[in-house]
Amino acid sequence: MSERIVALHTMDLTWRYASGEAMERFCAALCERRIEALQCDGCGRRYLPPRPMCGNCRLRLSRWVPVADEGTLVAWTVVHVPILDGRTGELRPAPYGMGLIRLDGADTTLNHFLAEANPARLALGLRVRAVWRPDLRGAMDDILHFEVLP
Ligand SMILES: [Zn+2]
Repeated sequence: MSERIVALHTMDLTWRYASGEAMERFCAALCERRIEALQCDGCGRRYLPPRPMCGNCRLRLSRWVPVADEGTLVAWTVVHVPILDGRTGELRPAPYGMGLIRLDGADTTLNHFLAEANPARLALGLRVRAVWRPDLRGAMDDILHFEVLP
């Protein structure tokens, strides 16, 4: 039987991710309180979040189109496990709602936080709207969460 050895060490690492050309433009638009999707010239499908290639046609996408900051909830869950928020380094309090939202004008869904975390008040097909951060900075969390519309 071997003895378990524990060595405590704090690593000082800095991470930097390349968002890519499409996400760079998407984030720049967020900074101006706009949401843009990429539309395929072949099949017309509008991708949000934007991606560089159409999954149907394999065409490179370059046509930017505005979409609304309101849409339809097409899937949702309530998360009961706190997660480490990569932007703040702190735990996000649970429970919280997560949803797949198809914004008006887009054909794909955006995965984002929901203001509502009560399962009795969540349902497929609900209309939701983005709640924007007052101090926009060009990141996905410029949208704090989506609120359910009355
Ligand atoms: Zn296409």
